[in-house]
Amino acid sequence: MDASKRSYEFEEYEKYYGDSVQVKKIMEDCPCCGSKFVVTHSPNAGSLIVEETSRCLDCDFGQKKVIHILN
Ligand SMILES: [Zn+2]
Repeated sequence: MDASKRSYEFEEYEKYYGDSVQVKKIMEDCPCCGSKFVVTHSPNAGSLIVEETSRCLDCDFGQKKVIHILN
């Protein structure tokens, strides 16, 4: 449903909203072991979407993907 999708995205924005240092920490550090994520960006030419993949190399946290839509 569109409504639930929208509220999920809103939650994500709220989570990242705050002073820039805190946002940077949420974005870059592994919540599992505290190591820096390795972040890669995969621009998808033609669709105006950039896929950001965060990976932790120090534990098995796995991947966290964020889709950026370019306006
Ligand atoms: Zn980790």
